[in-house]
Amino acid sequence: LDAPLYADLSGDFDLSFEFFPPKTEKMEETLWGAIRTLEPLAPRFVSVTYGAGGSTRERTHATVERVARETGIQAAAHLTCVAASKADIAEVAEEYWNAGVRHIVALRGDPQVAGTKFEAHPEGYAGAAELVEGLLKLHPFEISVAAYPEAHPEAISQQADIDHLKRKMDAGANRAITQFFHSPDTFFRFRDRAVAAGITTEIVPGIMPVSNFAGMKRMSAMCGTDIPAWMGHIFEGLDDHPAARQLVAATVAAELCRKLYAGGVRQFHFYTLNRAELAFAISHLLGKRAAVAKPVEAAA
Ligand code: FAD
Repeated sequence: LDAPLYADLSGDFDLSFEFFPPKTEKMEETLWGAIRTLEPLAPRFVSVTYGAGGSTRERTHATVERVARETGIQAAAHLTCVAASKADIAEVAEEYWNAGVRHIVALRGDPQVAGTKFEAHPEGYAGAAELVEGLLKLHPFEISVAAYPEAHPEAISQQADIDHLKRKMDAGANRAITQFFHSPDTFFRFRDRAVAAGITTEIVPGIMPVSNFAGMKRMSAMCGTDIPAWMGHIFEGLDDHPAARQLVAATVAAELCRKLYAGGVRQFHFYTLNRAELAFAISHLLGKRAAVAKPVEAAA
């Protein structure tokens, strides 16, 4: 109890940041401001999402390629196989490989009509496990896949969901990045079940700082993510106080990360929504500092 609150946090963990491809020049500026702010934290990679059904194919590619070209950060491209033939996927993957991109976040994607059942393209992949296999037949990409601590909404059971994750890892994925969640225990229980199922690859918690509680409630309902009662209470009355809300959001997410760290987690994937400040502040609170370039030794 006497230990200083933040004494144990030395920043000895890895980071990755997720962005979405911008639609306008203004959004592009915001995104690049965020990337430049987060770049000195030396993330392991940054990833760029792929709009529903491949709707951002060109914009995702342009953003990933620019990150690869203009920063020292590894760029990862999200790629979904919904509504795409295997030939379409091969074309996109080939473009990335030729642009020097070596990391794909391989996903099935959601059905194009919300609420309907996923149907594979007649000449496409049946799901993410098959996509991973297909991509690795093309090139030796590094592959991340999605995992669901509270089970995917389509899962028939939590065990079936974990078994499916195991199939994705057995197909050759290097890591799983989780859907966001609000309670550390949710992650720890999931990690234990994954290990019990024989999953030995890394499972990286996806952290979504809550800066808009109403939006978070909508998203959580869609993803089947539980919102603890205390969370509604903590954000109550902050609708008209955006600055206070940001401070509260950073505190809540930093506390979640601190508990994950105490439970052995040494990697965090931040859903940034193209804003740097929350991810930057939380990483800072956990002890992360900008990687300072080493001075060049004077010639002897
Ligand atoms: P899969 O792993 O193929 O399947 C999803 C679930 O369905 C499984 O978890 C399992 O419960 C069940 N299932 C499927 N096949 C079987 C089977 N044979 N047997 C038993 N159960 C089965 N969406 C986008 O459109 N663009 C993005 O950029 C994007 N990025 C994401 C990043 C992360 C980190 C996460 C967590 C999600 C992301 N998504 C994205 C959302 C994702 O596309 C949806 O959640 C989608 O519904 C499932 O994709 P998946 O790759 O998890 O699918």
